[in-house]
Amino acid sequence: MKKRLIITNILMVFVSLLALLCAASLIVFGVKRNDGEKELRNYLSVACQYYDADSSLNTAQSTVSLLYNSDSDLRLTIIASDGTVLADTSGEIEENHLSRPEIQNPGTIYYRYSETLKENMMYLAAKDIGAEGTLAYVRVALSQADVESIVYSLLGWGGLAIVLITGLSGLAIDLVVRHSMKPLQEQVGKLSAIVGEKTDDGHDDIKELSERIDTAKTLLDARYKEVQKEKAKTDYLIDQISQGLIVIDGLGFIKMMNHAATKVFGLSKDESYGKEYRFLTNDERFLLNVKKAIENGEGSSFDYKIGPLTCLLTLSPLEGVWGEGGRHGVALLVLDVSEKRRLELAKRDFFANASHELKSPLTAIIGYQEMIQEGLITKPEEIKDATERTLKEAKRMNQIIIEMLSLSKLESREKKEIRPISLKKIIEDFLLSHEGAIKNEHLHVRVTLDDFEVPMAEEDAENLISNLLDNAIKYNRPSGTLEIILSKETKQFVVGDSGIGIAPEDKERIFERFYRVDKAKSKALGGTGLGLAIVKHICLDYGFLIALESTLGVGSKFTVYFR
Ligand code: ADP
Repeated sequence: MKKRLIITNILMVFVSLLALLCAASLIVFGVKRNDGEKELRNYLSVACQYYDADSSLNTAQSTVSLLYNSDSDLRLTIIASDGTVLADTSGEIEENHLSRPEIQNPGTIYYRYSETLKENMMYLAAKDIGAEGTLAYVRVALSQADVESIVYSLLGWGGLAIVLITGLSGLAIDLVVRHSMKPLQEQVGKLSAIVGEKTDDGHDDIKELSERIDTAKTLLDARYKEVQKEKAKTDYLIDQISQGLIVIDGLGFIKMMNHAATKVFGLSKDESYGKEYRFLTNDERFLLNVKKAIENGEGSSFDYKIGPLTCLLTLSPLEGVWGEGGRHGVALLVLDVSEKRRLELAKRDFFANASHELKSPLTAIIGYQEMIQEGLITKPEEIKDATERTLKEAKRMNQIIIEMLSLSKLESREKKEIRPISLKKIIEDFLLSHEGAIKNEHLHVRVTLDDFEVPMAEEDAENLISNLLDNAIKYNRPSGTLEIILSKETKQFVVGDSGIGIAPEDKERIFERFYRVDKAKSKALGGTGLGLAIVKHICLDYGFLIALESTLGVGSKFTVYFR
C-alpha cells in the first residue's frame, strides 16, 4: 500500500513534469517557427523587390550575392520559368526545380529535407515578373537546425531535470510517508498490545496497519460483548438480592445501585448513576457517615428512616479500584428492618404494659393482706370484704397471665391440631355458661346460627368467639340487644350489640395489647385489654378478615369473614 502510494505520487510528478516540458517545447517550437516564417517572408519580399529578370543590373547572381552577404544562413534561389536554377546561394545547381512544391504553390511555406544542404529547411517562393515581362521564381529558404537544436536541448535538459525531480520527490514522499505513519504505527502497536496481538514494528504498510486495526476491532468487539454479558449477569444477580446495595466511588459519585435500593430511595438506576451521594437524601447523619467513610475509611451502621420504612444502613469503606488519592469508595448495604423494629417496639411496650398491669392487682393484694396482718382491719365483715377484693385482684392477675400465655402461644406459632370445628356448638356453650350475666343485664339475645365447620384449632375458635361475645355482653347497656349471626352462605360470624359503642379514633387502637378506651370500666368488668389483641392475632394466623362498625352510644358490630 505504501509502495503503491509512493509509485503513484512519483508517476504523477513525472507525468505532470513531462506534460509541462512537452507544452514548453511546443510553445518554443511554435514561437521560433513563427519568427522564422516572418523572417523568410521579409527576405522574400526584399529579394523580389531587388531582382528583375529583365534588368542587366539586378541579375540573379547579384541578388543572391546581396542577400548572402546580409545573412549567410539564408538560402536564395532564382529559378527561371522553365525550372532551371539561375542562381543559388549554395552554388551551382543543375537539377530542375520546377516540380518543387513551393514553386508549384508560390506564397505557401513548405518544410522539408534538403537533399542539397542535407538538413531540414523552410521554403517560400514567389513569382517575379521582370520589367519586360519575363517570369522567374524567387525562392528563399532558412535552415531549421536552430529551432530543432533549441527544442532538442530543451527536451534533453528538461528530461534530465524531470528524472532528477521525480527521483527526489520519490525520496521526499517516502520520507514524509514514513514520518507521518510513525505515530499511526505506534498507536496500532499499542492497540494490538491491548487486545493481546503480537506487536511487530516492522509493518509499515497502510494496508497491513488497517488489517491490524480491523483485527483489533473485531477482538475488542468480542471482548466488549463478553464484558457486557458478564455485567448483565452480575447486575441480574445483584438485583435479585432483597437487600439494597449502593456503591459510591472515592469522589463521592454513585456507581451502582441495585433494584432493592432504588425502591427504598425512590429513584431509578438511570436517575442516580453518576450523581453525587448527596442526591440520595439530605439526612445529616447519612451525609456525615458517608463523608467519614470516604475520607477516613470509617465504617458505620445506623438506622435510617425513609417514609414509612426503617432501614439499617451499613457503610463499608472500599479500597483498591474504588479508592482514589487516599479516599475510599463506599459499599452501602440497605436492609429493611421496619417490621423488626416495629416488633421490638411492640415487645418493649408489651413488657412495660404487662408489668404495669400485673403490678396494680399485686399492690392491691399486698395492701389488703398487710392491713389484715397488721391488725388494721379487725371486723369480720371488713376482713371478708378485704378477702373478696384480694380474690378479685388475684383472679384478674390470673386472667391477665392466662391471656398473655394465649398470646405468647399464638406468637410462638407452635404446631396446632387443626380440625373442622363446629362454631355453632361453641357459641351455644358460651351462651349457656353466660346465661346468668345475660339475665342480670336483661339482654335480648337474637341468634341465627347455621351449622357449618371451620378448620381451626379448638382453642383458637373458643378464644375468638368468647372474646367477641364477652365484650358484647360487658360493654352492652341494661336491656340491650345482643345479635349473633353465623352464616354458612356468606361464611361470616357477626356479633352486634347496642352498647356504649366505640369512637372512630379508637377503632384501630382497641386491637392493640392492653389498650382500653375506658380503663376503669374495663377493670371493673374484669377486662384485661388483651381480648381483641388475641382475636386479631387469630384472624391474622388463619387469614380471616375482621371488620368493625360502631357508633358511639349506639352500639358495635364485629364481623369475622372466614376464608
Ligand atoms: P378488655 O379486656 O378491656 O375488654 P379487649 O381487648 O377485649 O379488652 O377490648 C379492648 C377495649 O375495646 C375495651 O377495653 C373496650 O374499651 C373496647 N371494646 C371492646 N369491645 C367493645 C364493644 N363491644 N363495645 C364497646 N367497646 C368495646
